This record gives sequence, structure tokens and C-alpha cells, in this order.
Amino acid sequence: MMTHGYKPELSEGAIKCPIFQTSTFVFKTAQEGKAFFEVAYGKREKLPNEELGLIYSRINNPDLEILENRLCLWDQAEDCAVFESGMSAITTVLLEFLKPGDLLLYSRPIYGGTDHFIHHFLPKMGIDVLGFKPGQSEAEILQLLEASGKKSQLKMIFVETPANPTNDLIDLSCCRRIADQLEQDERILIATDNTYMGPLWQHPLQHGADLVMYSATKYIGGHSDIIAGAVLGSKPLLQRVKTLRTFLGNMAGPWTGWLMMRSLETLKVRMEEQQKNAQQVAKHLADHPKVASVNYLGLLQPGDRGYDIFSRQCLGSGAMVSFEIKGGESEAFTFLNHLKLIKLAVSLGSTESLAQHPKSMTHAGVDDEDLKTMQITDAKIRLSIGVEHHQDIIWDIDQALHHV
Ligand SMILES: *Cc1c(COP(=O)(O)O)cnc(C)c1O
Repeated sequence: MMTHGYKPELSEGAIKCPIFQTSTFVFKTAQEGKAFFEVAYGKREKLPNEELGLIYSRINNPDLEILENRLCLWDQAEDCAVFESGMSAITTVLLEFLKPGDLLLYSRPIYGGTDHFIHHFLPKMGIDVLGFKPGQSEAEILQLLEASGKKSQLKMIFVETPANPTNDLIDLSCCRRIADQLEQDERILIATDNTYMGPLWQHPLQHGADLVMYSATKYIGGHSDIIAGAVLGSKPLLQRVKTLRTFLGNMAGPWTGWLMMRSLETLKVRMEEQQKNAQQVAKHLADHPKVASVNYLGLLQPGDRGYDIFSRQCLGSGAMVSFEIKGGESEAFTFLNHLKLIKLAVSLGSTESLAQHPKSMTHAGVDDEDLKTMQITDAKIRLSIGVEHHQDIIWDIDQALHHV
């Protein structure tokens, strides 16, 4: 994360990759400009050892290319494309790989922005959507597809796992089996939003996914100071994603790219510290008399729903904890209003701990019936645990609970 893909000799010996704050790049000769465009516009394949020359910052920029090479290492992906937001990463994938008449199968609950795009934008394009829930078996999902009458149109399975804020898990290898069974002449793609667990604690490409997406605003950025996104996968799929990115113009800028590279240097130490803290916090909450229940992957026991998937698919328990306070909205709000160290804000994965009330905040757009089936109640609080000392975090939780 410190040196991969960067050559100091190309940048006056600078130890760190500078910010290439430039819109365009000067060609040495007209022939070189022609050669770069031939590759960029897909008129011919790259020659062995030929590097795609720099043309224009909507197509490529060193701060993005080096960052993309480094992100590939975590997920062992062939290629990566970074975006100016997680939503632009997700919507570019959906727009590139779906067309009118196709069916999208997706896991519920899903991030609010993605949910909105799936329900309010894709249908306008004539794309059908069908949701399934954690805990549904392979046979039940196949039955759901059968009952929809659109099984043969299935083109993509979009999965977000673990689910927000419940930490319910979706089995990626089960999705792969479903996709393989229903595949006709074109591969049915599995796209996974790995924001909650990646890139450290879950590697979807190794469990049958074709595309991995991130809101890099969260753990990858990690300091609550940028909005960014990323998509990873095979070279042929990323070629398509990058081409659409070129024409939508939603790539990250050089400044965002540079900040993400800086963030990557501490990614592992930050995430591991956050996870250690979250384990302490979850254990403490589970024993607290004012807490009714805790959802944390690290508390799953053999026999619990999701335990088998967790053991197979996850390399860690993460830093997202949700819990139900005894009482309802009033008790939850009293707790939130009395926090001193933990900030009352949405978002997650950053160095500072955050708390929020999903039902009235991140999930305010979800209808009542879905809130019920997802167990997003008035009493539910979501915490994103940061890198503060765990005793300070627990002290804050205790003093806020004391006011309830
Ligand atoms: C935040 C988030 C997004 C959206 O990302 P932005 O960077 O805010 O555009 C998508 N999916 C998940 C799971 C998220 O948490």
C-alpha cells in the first residue's frame, strides 16, 4: 500500500505520488497520441508490455491508476475502476450490465440509495426487479424466481452482505449456484456491495462473485472526509465499466484519488483496531441490563442463523454493531442525545465512532412492512466503531445508557 505501482523516478524522485492536478496530458508526438487513443477507444488490443498512455483525466490519471492497482491487491482482482461516489460505482455497474427486459434479483435489505435506484430508476428503463431475504434457501429463491414468471430473463444477482443494519448474511456461493443453474448463453453476473466488510474481512470474488463494489467513503477512505467508490473484477468486465465511466464522466478526481492512496497506507491497522474495539463493545452491550439484543457477527454461535455462512465467507467480524435498547424511540433518542465521544451521524467505517437511529435516519424510506420483517424497530441503534480507546467508547455508551 506504500509503494505498489508508483515509480519515484517519473515524479522528480518524490517519495509519495504527487497530486496530478491536471485535466490533460501532453503527447510527445502525434503518433503517440494516435496510439493512446486506439487503445483507449478499444480500436485495438494493447500490445504486450504496452502501457495505456495518459490522455485526459476523465479517461486516466496517475492518482487513479496507481490507486486502482493497489485496490486490486486486496480482492485479488484483475482490474479496478474508482468513482467519485459509491453510488456512481453501483449505478454504473447496473446501467452497463442490464438492459430493457432483463431481470435483476437482489438481496433485501439493501443500501437506501441502491434501493431507490432499483425501485425508481431501473423500472423506467424496462428492467424488472425481484428481492429476496436473508435466510431464504436456494430452493425458496428458485421458487420465487419461478413464481415471478421471469426466471429466463435473469441477468444479474445483486448482493449486499452483511445487510445493514441487521448484520444478516447472504450466501454468495448459493447465489453462484443459482446463477449457474439458470445461465443460458450469457453469464448471469453476481455483483456484491462489499462496503460493510471489505476489503479486509470478505473477498466476494473468491466465493463466486463477478464484480465487487465499494463505497470507498467508508473503510477505504476511513476519515469521513471524502465521498468515493470503486468497482473490481475481471479485465473484460472492468473494460466495460471503465468505458461507461468515461462517457458518464463519474470517475474520481485526482485529489480524491490521492486522499484514498493516503488512506490505504493505514487501512489494515485502522480496520483491525476498529474490529478489536467492536468486539469489546458488542460483548459489553450484550451484558448490559438496558440492552434487549445485539446484532454483531462476532457474537454468532454455532446453530445461529448465518453462523455457517460467516464461517465460510468472512475473515473477520467487522466493526458494525447494532443493538436494541429496552423501550422504544424515546429511549433510543435519549441514549443518542447523551453521547459525548461517539458522534450522532450516519455513515460508517471511519476512525471516529458514530451512532445513528436506522428507522428514522438511514432507513427512513423503507416501508412499514419491510421494517418489520427486517426487524428495524424504534429501539434499534446502529454503531460504527472507530479507533478510539475501547474503554473510552464503553465509558461513553455506559454514561449515555445511564440517562435512559
Ligand atoms: C454509503 C454506502 C453506499 C453509497 O456510497 P456513497 O459513497 O455514499 O455514494 C452504498 N452501499 C453501502 C453499503 C453504503 O454503506
